Amino acid sequence: MHTLVAPRTTLIGGGAVAQIADLLARLGLSRPLIVTDPVMVSTGLLERLLAPLRAAELGYSIFSDTIPEPEDHIVAAGVAILRAGTYDCLLAFGGGSPIDTAKAMTILALGGSHIREWKAPRAADHAALPVIAVPTTAGTGSEATRATVITDTATQEKMLIMGLGAVPLAAIVDFELTYSVPPRTTADTGIDSLTHALEAYVSRRANPYSDAMALSAMALIGPNLRTAYREPRNAQAREALMIGAHHAGLAFTNASVALVHGMSRPIGAHFHVAHGLSNAMLLPAITSFSLESALPRYAAASRIIGFAPAQADDDAAGAALTAGLAALNRDLNVPTPAAYGIPHAAWEARLQQMADQATASGSPANNPRIPEKAEIVALYRAVYDGGNQPGPT
Ligand code: NAD
Repeated sequence: MHTLVAPRTTLIGGGAVAQIADLLARLGLSRPLIVTDPVMVSTGLLERLLAPLRAAELGYSIFSDTIPEPEDHIVAAGVAILRAGTYDCLLAFGGGSPIDTAKAMTILALGGSHIREWKAPRAADHAALPVIAVPTTAGTGSEATRATVITDTATQEKMLIMGLGAVPLAAIVDFELTYSVPPRTTADTGIDSLTHALEAYVSRRANPYSDAMALSAMALIGPNLRTAYREPRNAQAREALMIGAHHAGLAFTNASVALVHGMSRPIGAHFHVAHGLSNAMLLPAITSFSLESALPRYAAASRIIGFAPAQADDDAAGAALTAGLAALNRDLNVPTPAAYGIPHAAWEARLQQMADQATASGSPANNPRIPEKAEIVALYRAVYDGGNQPGPT
């Protein structure tokens, strides 16, 4: 049996954010608390959301103190603001970080004293208010997922919080909001979404729906990621990445992510590496580790991403996948953890704890090849200075 989740309605297309007031009206909502980050305010991007709200004479308040890779105290601050007003929804505008913050706020606002009380495997199925999500990165797919990721600052753990309470009621997927994403973030978020699609496709919990979304995502992201990185205003590439990221979100939330995400979260929490970048650091090595356990699926992924020709057999396509992912990292200037500046001694000192946290998240159990703890430690060691990422970094 499969249980599928998705927002009740999603508006997709360039300029769609202009429809925000109509969308709220259709949902019977009129008093949003906007959850965003300081960059959205300072760059003026938030005006794309505010102008149609003002034109419709809708009242709103703004909580713009969210931070990249959100932490528990930000969620608590947001809940205090939520409780102090009379809102009927949360309107999340930004990358995955503001969207995840809004999701965690509405889950915690319903009950509990700290967001860690809702850590998976506990089901966070209920929420105080609905979330409407408007992503401004082509990355996390959080606008369509039943997950939110919040760091517990007491333990430096990136907690996974999962349940129906985290699924946005509605989403607006407007690629025009991503023109201003800088190249580094374009690369990191793009590899994040490619990882979502690939991991969903090889997941032990893959199903026909997640397969369709994952294949669509890989076909859209594969040929367009380098273009958007080099040409930020290329509309066709931006649109493909945005829809690809959305489909990848629908894929993984209905199939689960696997070992890359399981090992990536601890890197982010301990060393403050952006989520997509830590995925990218791991992706070639972990794909290589897992390849033989699901070769036909990895090979199909390689062909649809465009790393291997359609007629390549599985062995050739599988080899092209690991080589292609390593080349993508080089072209997008993805550093190794060493090149990123993480001291070797600090990396070694955290390895055991990171491996335990990776396993405890549950994600590695969905991987085609389920690793022992020692294998996770060995993989962390291999990626540190580029063990599986040949060539300059
Ligand atoms: P982000 O939201 O942290 O944003 C990264 C940076 O890009 C920020 O400085 C932000 O201000 C800036 N930015 C965003 N949009 C921009 C724009 N249009 N123009 C200019 N700058 C812009 O990055 P993200 O990768 O979208 O989100 C990462 C977070 O999402 C992590 O915490 C990760 O764990 C989480 N995540 C959640 C899910 C989920 O299903 N809930 C899935 C994957 C990742």
